[in-house]
Amino acid sequence: MQDVFQIPVDQVRGIGESKARDLVSLGIVSVGDLLEFFPHRYEDFRIRDLTEVADGDRATVAAVVIGEPFVQMFGRKKSRMVCKAAAGTVTFTAVWFNQHYLKDRLTYGTEAVMTGKWDRNRRQLTVSACEFANSRNPRAGTVKPVYTVGGEFTQAWMQKIVSTALEQFGAMIPETLPEELVVKYRFMPRREAITAIHQPADANSGLEARRRLVYEELFLFQLKLQAYRAMTHRRKDGVAHRFDREEVRRFARALPFELTDAQKRVIADILRDMEAPHSMNRLLQGDVGSGKTVVAAVALYACVKGGLQGALMVPTEILAEQHARSVARLFEGFGVEVALLTGSLTDRQRRDVLAGLQSGLIDIVVGTHALIQEDVYFRGLGLVVTDEQHRFGVQQRSVLRRKGLNPDVLTMTATPIPRTLAITAFGDMDVSTLDELPKGRLPIKTYWVKHDAMDRVLGLIRRELDAGRQAYVICPLIEESDKLDFENALDMFARLHGVFGPEAVGLLHGRLPASDKEDVMKRFSSRQVGVLVSTTVVEVGVDVPNASVMVVYDAERFGLSQLHQLRGRVGRGEHQSYCVLVADPKSEQGRERMRVMTETNDGFEVARRDLELRGPGDFFGTKQSGAPEFRLADPSADFALLEAARDDAAALVRDGEFWTAAAYAHLRSFLLRQQMFQGELLD
Ligand code: ADP
Ligand code: MG
Repeated sequence: MQDVFQIPVDQVRGIGESKARDLVSLGIVSVGDLLEFFPHRYEDFRIRDLTEVADGDRATVAAVVIGEPFVQMFGRKKSRMVCKAAAGTVTFTAVWFNQHYLKDRLTYGTEAVMTGKWDRNRRQLTVSACEFANSRNPRAGTVKPVYTVGGEFTQAWMQKIVSTALEQFGAMIPETLPEELVVKYRFMPRREAITAIHQPADANSGLEARRRLVYEELFLFQLKLQAYRAMTHRRKDGVAHRFDREEVRRFARALPFELTDAQKRVIADILRDMEAPHSMNRLLQGDVGSGKTVVAAVALYACVKGGLQGALMVPTEILAEQHARSVARLFEGFGVEVALLTGSLTDRQRRDVLAGLQSGLIDIVVGTHALIQEDVYFRGLGLVVTDEQHRFGVQQRSVLRRKGLNPDVLTMTATPIPRTLAITAFGDMDVSTLDELPKGRLPIKTYWVKHDAMDRVLGLIRRELDAGRQAYVICPLIEESDKLDFENALDMFARLHGVFGPEAVGLLHGRLPASDKEDVMKRFSSRQVGVLVSTTVVEVGVDVPNASVMVVYDAERFGLSQLHQLRGRVGRGEHQSYCVLVADPKSEQGRERMRVMTETNDGFEVARRDLELRGPGDFFGTKQSGAPEFRLADPSADFALLEAARDDAAALVRDGEFWTAAAYAHLRSFLLRQQMFQGELLD
């Protein structure tokens, strides 16, 4: 049978060449596009009993005119007309704006179906549509679709052409879901569902149609993800690392601590993937302080022992410097050459690093995402680890592919991924979780104090400094602002100088030159500086286990996840650590955020409460993370269907036997339309 996506939309009766051209602006080119141009809501013209209509609702009633219409004109075109009417047992005032041409038809005893907004207290219906007994195309009693169209297209025209298209081509709509699934979920057949979503006989059949089509959309999406994942696993075009496991174990044993069980389990997952000939695409989730960097180091070590190079990508230069240093420390005595590549290297340094990567002299390079781009060439890149970058995109992979590289990829994050995203945006990845903190960690004690408690805060810092520990003091601003009344780092730095002496206090913020940043971080790491006054540049990844106090000024300025990240800078060693939130929140929500922080140390719990308080919104930077946009489905609202679709797609890909030819053809045209993974999946 012919594919409706191959038939130009001007084949629909009533659509001429010029209308067909206009429809392109709605993304409608073929008959199939038109049939799948779904309404976003319905207008309900079913007759209701006025006594059951809530105040402010739109409703359609069967009314009888029981008075004389009265018209007030405002200028030549604008008017207000009122008329007494009755519907069932209720008498009311019908009001029309700018429709006084109806006046002559409103004679006593005339029956009319009126649709409008009901004002219960004033017993008044503001009529937007009025239909008399002899209407040619009665809407009364129907449910009409409302399409997302503007300007040149009217709803009535859209309804008409969709209806014509259904008559002409409805029989050609194929079933795409395997019979088993249609039966399992009692779905409408596809043809029926597409008809019903445009022209529901009643509200329930509209919902049923939607359920089937939402499932289908999610199912096809999942099928693509799962097929892609299966393909990556099947394809043997990745790197099969050849390292000596015993050597890797020796490295792990030489670490200054015993790995947690969770770390061991996750490392085993990763090493298995690395040895296999397919390319690894693994997500490593773990709360702050759970020891992800060490896991990365073991994987990188294995990579180097297999004769290949590794790259560690982080979001900021400060982090790059810090990671380069701590990774180099872990590799001390193991003959691994680590280099740092950031934007602040001198030309000469940069040239040396690039040459070292190309010749293979450098084993591991740490830097920001610029690492894998442009003019960076590797002798043999075997593993890319990204930390807190959320996603190693298809694009980045294709940059590497163009250079003939297909390294294993490990993506590490401390941000818990909302379950909808885990199934959609991250659905093609294998996931490992570090669900255990290293032994001997004392839970961080978190306090919330008001600004007037500064003396007590200073007392705590003093006590910890005397005990040999260190402290962070975080301010929202770098310098004083005339617009925002928040603590700034420069003032705080000056103030703490006065209290603890200039030697003991360091300053770090994003506007410092790179060499100054590096210098102050070095002095803090080596304990020369006891108190680091900083902006949120220390938010992710900074690792100084000796630090035991985190003070956050104007904490209500920060989101919960951000506060949790900041707090994660302490409690990284065996010492009791403290987090002090200094805040006078004006709103109840702000106070609730402070309470959440004092109540839990668990990143997943914090994230859950954050979602509750803020709604999903920008929580995870959804746009960045490549969350897909669906036409009908709403991954949160339709979560149950999403999960079902994921499981069904996985089973289908695994067993592979109940593919129908139509499902395959539909998936193919779906993928081509989305231009997703073009070529990769289809050949
Ligand atoms: P994450 O990146 O997950 O926030 P890190 O890898 O930076 O955590 O580890 C946090 C701190 O804990 C570091 O100082 C690290 O050296 C230390 N650490 C990691 N694993 C262990 C372990 N198994 N036992 C004790 N300390 C550990
Ligand atoms: Mg880390």
